[in-house]
Amino acid sequence: MMKYFWFAFSLLTPLISYAQRCGTVEYEKIRQQRHPSKETIDQFELWLQNKMGQRAKSGQGNRTQSANYVVPVVVHVIHSGEAIGTGTNISDAQILSQIKVLNDDFERLNADTTKTLTEFKTVAGKFPITFVMAQQDPNGLATTGIVRVKGTQTSWSIADNYTLKALSYWPAENYFNIWVTNLSGGLLGYTQLPVSSTLLGLEDSSNDRLTDGVVIDYQTYGTADAAGGSNFNLISEYNKGRTATHEVGHFFGLRHVWGDCSPFSCGCTDYVSDTPFQDTDYNGQCPSSIISDCSGHSMYANYMNYTDDACMNIFSQGQVDRMDVIINNSPRRVSLLTSIGSQPPSPVPNDIGIKSIASPGLSACDGSVTPAIVIHNFGTNDVTSTQINLSLNGNVVETKTFSLSLSTNAETTVAFSSVALAAGTNYNFLFNVLQTNGVADGSPAFNTISETTSTPLHGTLPIAENFNSMPAQWSTNNPDGLTTWVNTSIGGSHGGAMFLDYYNYDNQGTSDFLITPVLDLTNSTIASLSFDYAYAKLSTGSKDGLRVLVTTACDFNSSSTEIFNKAGSTLATVTSDSPFIPTDSQWASSGIIPLNQFLGQRIQIAFVGFNDFGNNLYIDNVSVLDNPITGFKLNGILTPSPVSCEANYTPVIQITNVGNTVINSFTVDAYLNNQLVTKQFTGVTLNPSQTASNFSLNATKFNSGANSFAVVIKSPNGNMSGAFVKDSINTKRYISTASDFIPLAQNFDNGVGEWITMNPTFGPIWYPTATNKGKSLEFEAINDASIGDQAWVVSPVLDLSKTSKASLTFESSYAYNFSSSETLRVLVSTDCGENFNQILYTSSGSSLANANATSAWLPSTKNEWRKNFINLDNFVGQPNTRFAFVATNANGNNLYLDNIQFFVNDNVTKDTLTIENLYSVYGGITGSPVQVTFNLPARQNVHIQVYGITGNVILDNTFTDTLNQTYTLLEPNTIAPGLFIVRVQTQSPSTIRSTKVLSGFN
Ligand SMILES: [Zn+2]
Repeated sequence: MMKYFWFAFSLLTPLISYAQRCGTVEYEKIRQQRHPSKETIDQFELWLQNKMGQRAKSGQGNRTQSANYVVPVVVHVIHSGEAIGTGTNISDAQILSQIKVLNDDFERLNADTTKTLTEFKTVAGKFPITFVMAQQDPNGLATTGIVRVKGTQTSWSIADNYTLKALSYWPAENYFNIWVTNLSGGLLGYTQLPVSSTLLGLEDSSNDRLTDGVVIDYQTYGTADAAGGSNFNLISEYNKGRTATHEVGHFFGLRHVWGDCSPFSCGCTDYVSDTPFQDTDYNGQCPSSIISDCSGHSMYANYMNYTDDACMNIFSQGQVDRMDVIINNSPRRVSLLTSIGSQPPSPVPNDIGIKSIASPGLSACDGSVTPAIVIHNFGTNDVTSTQINLSLNGNVVETKTFSLSLSTNAETTVAFSSVALAAGTNYNFLFNVLQTNGVADGSPAFNTISETTSTPLHGTLPIAENFNSMPAQWSTNNPDGLTTWVNTSIGGSHGGAMFLDYYNYDNQGTSDFLITPVLDLTNSTIASLSFDYAYAKLSTGSKDGLRVLVTTACDFNSSSTEIFNKAGSTLATVTSDSPFIPTDSQWASSGIIPLNQFLGQRIQIAFVGFNDFGNNLYIDNVSVLDNPITGFKLNGILTPSPVSCEANYTPVIQITNVGNTVINSFTVDAYLNNQLVTKQFTGVTLNPSQTASNFSLNATKFNSGANSFAVVIKSPNGNMSGAFVKDSINTKRYISTASDFIPLAQNFDNGVGEWITMNPTFGPIWYPTATNKGKSLEFEAINDASIGDQAWVVSPVLDLSKTSKASLTFESSYAYNFSSSETLRVLVSTDCGENFNQILYTSSGSSLANANATSAWLPSTKNEWRKNFINLDNFVGQPNTRFAFVATNANGNNLYLDNIQFFVNDNVTKDTLTIENLYSVYGGITGSPVQVTFNLPARQNVHIQVYGITGNVILDNTFTDTLNQTYTLLEPNTIAPGLFIVRVQTQSPSTIRSTKVLSGFN
């Protein structure tokens, strides 16, 4: 459900022909989906109504607010690189015009209060609030409150929320963040609603803090009524700044007047008593006279409707009361009132402030750390000395006076004495400025800064982590506070694994860290990492990623080295559109990744998932070794192929080094029909992770027919024991020199004849089975648990040297058993089968399937078969071709093969393919030749005669080896038009028949 939310949303928006006035409700739905524990509307309203009740009891409800609320505003213009004042990079004048609109509208100083219907003038409310552009920034420096940042994209949707706001953000406790940018899909603006303060545990994650504020489209921000406003690029219906008035209403807790029920309903409340019920939103409308709605007259001019800007002019007193409670109680609203952001910096003579902690970071290695901070001279005097103390976990550990030469607004880094840190501990570092230039520091602002630094635990090498539970010494780092690595049980041989739920994690672009304990390589002479991973990419494409980083500083924020990076299709071990849980066959191995560059140091390794909202990512079996591992793997026997002609072969094998040391020597035992031939390889260089395909064994004579052929590789570098030092493959190899020529048809009704059906690893084979097409070959994948098993059926050696054209058709039938995809390939060899190195056809899973089925598939109708055509012109002239039809097992469902036909032409048309009889005579009119196409069960001589109407013989010929050929009998322009008799005689079955044809008429 969640997965397709964005798809549905992005499909819908382009269909909306008018502007989408406000995205706040959509945005809040997404927030609720992401944080199932977030407070509901009901919980929030219960808190709010309770607060409003307290306010009324205390008499505040009737007071005239005299104090003015002052809110410092920062406007982040996220533009596309234009000059200031053009395009999305709107002018300062346009920015400031909006601030005036907000101040007028909330205090009911707007000029168009005269348009408020008389009956509503008595409930009109004034909210005594003043929005001011911030005068000092989060660092205490003077500012205009305007930040301009070139965006990383040219338009933005709600889905891009986090990415957009991360480009520029000031702490939401102290500043009201307004982002102005180019919103896509006709969206004018959206807001993050306030939250309650009392429901502990439901207050939003840090991520929500980082996104608090409102977003306004640049073409609706500001007012054309300002001086020079006619030059602002505003949409005419939304050119009075009321988009922001509306969104800021949301920011202070107001809801839409119609109550956001879908469909509209007269009983749907906005929790405000003096705004009449509505069952419409007035989107795109601009009424000016009394309108009846629900049970009374409509307050269509309320700012919390979707009316055009020119027709909005009122907040009600009930709405103002509600905003008053929010601004006095809600987190990141009430704190705005005491922010110094609204006041200019007022420098004093002697004032040092701390900008940041340079060391340590949020994470540090145990041992010795040198605390250091960046300090700034905020004062008007040059600073020659400052005294700062450092507290560790609440105890002052050092008070230090630093001699400086720091002019106004200059910065420098100062360091304290080193501190000893133990592993697996949290340390609170607190720095406090005491004196500047020998007197008490002149301003308390920025005089303290604190941070908690954690030190990771140590692990013991070697690491062999199977994640059957979450290992205690490992940790995760979850920067956005949302989905992260969790331990999960997936069954099968993997048991437990670490898991990132990217299927349901729509905060794209974020990273999550899974971090090892500290691993000590100080005395190691060799080290390596390996792990297993599984990832499904969506069929529409998704680019979730996995990187592996190594740090020697116990802090991935400060420095790290990347040793593995895969994403999207490179990372994918399978393609799936349903939530992915890997089976045993859907994992891949990283192979051995050397860590030798980190020898002599202490390291931590992080597995960093990158979210593209695709499908799930898993890792398992993390192995970190600090001793030499010699190991290799026999990937396959490349020569000879499973079915070939020659009896004498030099077998070739492919080997991968899966250890962390170079392999220089090894031994191969090859058993041909149980006769052992041993070969020693010396002087080779096979590097860690390298795969080589050039290891030739001794020339060996294979027997005609089936041979068992086993290969064992062993003793890498003379190492006789241990894991990975021995590997073997036991196969079948078939020698057959049976030959034939084309045309050729094989329907398997009489078995496989001289075709060879075999499975190189002794598993199930293609086997003749009764279907609706007589007998067909079946590969019974549904009962074959051996994933990757291959069944081969191979043609006799075919001579293609006596034809100038050739082609091939075959029929297949298959049912897709959902996640498990069989593959059918057609391979060709031009050297009698020694190498099948060209793929003519490959299809798998749903592409190959005629149906979906989870029960054993057996085709029963003509429509449950598919006919496939392959042009073979590239192979004519070759005397020793051989064709293999290879099924690869996924334990999915059964695959069938039938009616393999080779043609001596390459224009096998649909018409000729659909002939059901022994032959068809056709053509002759409108200029087409008279032709006959055969569809005989076996090659034979056919006798064809053509007579004119007077009995004159025009053609009398015997065609040898006729099977499925097409012969031209009459060309219309070589003979006078007339009626002709075509007489065809076949031998097997024996038939003779005459057909009348007209030829040459137009
Ligand atoms: Zn709204």
